[in-house]
Amino acid sequence: MDFVRLFIEKILYPLMEKRRGNRVRENTLSLKESEKYTAAQLKEYQSERLSELLVECVKNVPKYQGVAISEKDILYNPYEALKKFPVTKKSDVVKDKESFVNKTYARSSLIENNTGGSTGEPLRFYMDRKAVEQYEAARFRGLSWYDISFGSRSVMLWGNPVEMTKNEDKKYRLREKYLKNRIMLPAYNLKPDKLREYVEIINRYKPEYIYGYSSMLDTMAKMFEAQNLKLKISLKAVVSTSETLTQEQRENIGRVFSCSVVNEYGARDAGILAYECPNGAMHIIEENVYVEILDPVTLKEITDGSVGLIAVTDLTNYAMPRLRYILGDIGSLSSDTCDCGRSSRLFSSIEGREDALLVKRDGTLVHGHIVNHFAKLCHGIKQFRFVQKSVEYAELIVVKKESETDDCDKFVSDIKEAFPGLEVNVAIAEDIPAAKSGKMKYTIREFPLN
Ligand SMILES: [Zn+2]
Repeated sequence: MDFVRLFIEKILYPLMEKRRGNRVRENTLSLKESEKYTAAQLKEYQSERLSELLVECVKNVPKYQGVAISEKDILYNPYEALKKFPVTKKSDVVKDKESFVNKTYARSSLIENNTGGSTGEPLRFYMDRKAVEQYEAARFRGLSWYDISFGSRSVMLWGNPVEMTKNEDKKYRLREKYLKNRIMLPAYNLKPDKLREYVEIINRYKPEYIYGYSSMLDTMAKMFEAQNLKLKISLKAVVSTSETLTQEQRENIGRVFSCSVVNEYGARDAGILAYECPNGAMHIIEENVYVEILDPVTLKEITDGSVGLIAVTDLTNYAMPRLRYILGDIGSLSSDTCDCGRSSRLFSSIEGREDALLVKRDGTLVHGHIVNHFAKLCHGIKQFRFVQKSVEYAELIVVKKESETDDCDKFVSDIKEAFPGLEVNVAIAEDIPAAKSGKMKYTIREFPLN
């Protein structure tokens, strides 16, 4: 019996609800109800929440006060009304943060957060407690599909959240262990010799699930396999978050941990946006968010199935609403419904960062996957990085495998053939360091599309 889980579910949560008005559990239950809605009921529910948000924006958010739209028009058709509002880029928020803040909110009620800023300047933004509790509820509803609950014991593969003194660190770990029933394993410290220790920790701790970045989970899975290590416990799921989960990573993780691999799609500056159901479909949390897919160049909405920029309107954050907010990820919506009985809209793909889209000289957009594909056809390549600087010019760094004599000419000629007229400067290197953000990017476009 897991006493910490019992403590969290039977004592801690009821206490937080009573003392602090915490609504995570209540919101989760309400999301569990709305997942039974028909598509029409869900749309109606979402439409009401969208009109409430838009009315609030025109009334109290300086950025949107000047938008020429009447309350009547918003209530008549909020989806059409939303199109009258400008698309929000991260750079707009960096430039003019305060204009997005709701005038009726006391400073003391704002929770400040920021994104790491992998593309340069970090983005600071505000949320309020209600929004955070709604994000948490979305996560717990998704986890409930795998029989995981609030108090379920977990191991989180993560970097240290902030630099802490030893004492603070100890307090933080205790809080994690007894208030959240989870332990953190530092993912930045994932060295082969540490691995046996990790396996022992996990076996002893007996988590119901493991949670972490897809790349970290994948690295861990590969290391387990290479050293022939196996966990002695059975997990309900491994939950991958924060980065795109590729098919290859999914297979590695699933094979090594012998359990469901669950994809959670969210962003620090937009909450939990979609959760994978046991049928493998990415269900959008439509109660909390309205998703549009926009053409990367014209920023106009495009049809289901086409890949474009993911723009989200967070229906829960009234403290700092950002309408039609471009996350920087690309993906597509599906016009199918899932057999699992949940009627929400689905993502048909989430393909990672927008800057992985490359441009041919005639303006055609091509996903960076294509370069990866060419690399696989050429056996001599250990690692590469392809940086497109402009429509005319790109730089390619290649690290060759020691054992192979393959001179990677085919790799370069395949790229040139796919991008007619593109000048590619090739450099052979010993090693390619990880990007500043710590994430490995193989292809990247360094100029804007619009
Ligand atoms: Zn489903």
